[in-house]
Amino acid sequence: ETTRVAFFGLGHMGGPMALNLHRAGLAVRGFDPSEAACSAARGAGLPVAASAEEVLADAQVVISMLPASRHVERLYLGDDDAPGLLNRLPPGTLILDCSTIAPASAQRVAQAAAARGLAMLDAPVSGGVAGAQAGTLTFIVGGDAAALERARPVLQCMGKHIFHMGRNGAGQVAKLCNNMALGVIMAVTAEALALGAAHGLDPKALSQMMAVSTGRSWATEVCNPWPGVLEAAPATRGYQGGFANDLMLKDLGLAVEAGLNVGAITPLGELARNLYALNSAAGRGGLDFSSVLQLLRRGSP
Ligand code: NAD
Repeated sequence: ETTRVAFFGLGHMGGPMALNLHRAGLAVRGFDPSEAACSAARGAGLPVAASAEEVLADAQVVISMLPASRHVERLYLGDDDAPGLLNRLPPGTLILDCSTIAPASAQRVAQAAAARGLAMLDAPVSGGVAGAQAGTLTFIVGGDAAALERARPVLQCMGKHIFHMGRNGAGQVAKLCNNMALGVIMAVTAEALALGAAHGLDPKALSQMMAVSTGRSWATEVCNPWPGVLEAAPATRGYQGGFANDLMLKDLGLAVEAGLNVGAITPLGELARNLYALNSAAGRGGLDFSSVLQLLRRGSP
């Protein structure tokens, strides 16, 4: 029997993810309040519903890919204006939230779901828009192991790797740990390249040396922040595409907040959060986060 999926959030990530489920033969219907997101998804061949009610009809699995915690809480728990989905779904419905949100928020919604007999997993992703399109995302999952076994065939239509990190919220914590490390590593790589360049070194030669030395990382080898060092890096095309500075800023804010909740010590995460905030204030919020180099490079505007 075909699995019936209701997919909420057809943005940069959700649109291609829903399309991969549709192509895999699942009965998917999408919904998004943004008319632009709906028409892009429809144009790509995805069945799109006109209302949240319509998208829910008979759904066995509900997936959400929304911007932030408040959108996820509003969708599932509701607010003064509208009831949340949890009140409308029949018991046994499986809920997968793939958005990157606060771990505490993921736990709150999952607890409310459990109280209604609904299994819910946090399943944030890594891999970006390219991974969403290619169906090669990594899913970083928190929640019940039995629910994950039900979710696995669905997740496998959209991704390549699935990591079960622990109970509800653990997927979000793990995702934030990865992105905090990434944000710090990118900023310090930019700082190192700017230091070398200020001494007259060629950033490309410096990067090539670092890429096979102990300072190597994804930031030196794949997404090098210095324009022209790597052909395929966002830096070389004016920092277009890639992972937006403001999404990194959001994730670092969530990481710092998650740290405060348990008394963790995150000095570099906090410093990096401020660097990406400065980069955003300088007008580069929509550019790839490797544009943080422009804050540190001598002679930059
Ligand atoms: P996006 O803004 O492109 O898409 C989000 C969509 O959700 C929008 O189209 C919005 O209209 C829709 N939406 C809001 N409320 C809704 C509701 N109640 N019902 C249905 N749809 C609703 O964002 P995105 O880039 O697709 O990112 C989504 C999530 O994935 C974010 O949490 C982000 O941090 C995370 N993420 C993004 C990337 C990336 O590279 N873009 C990578 C990994 C993780």
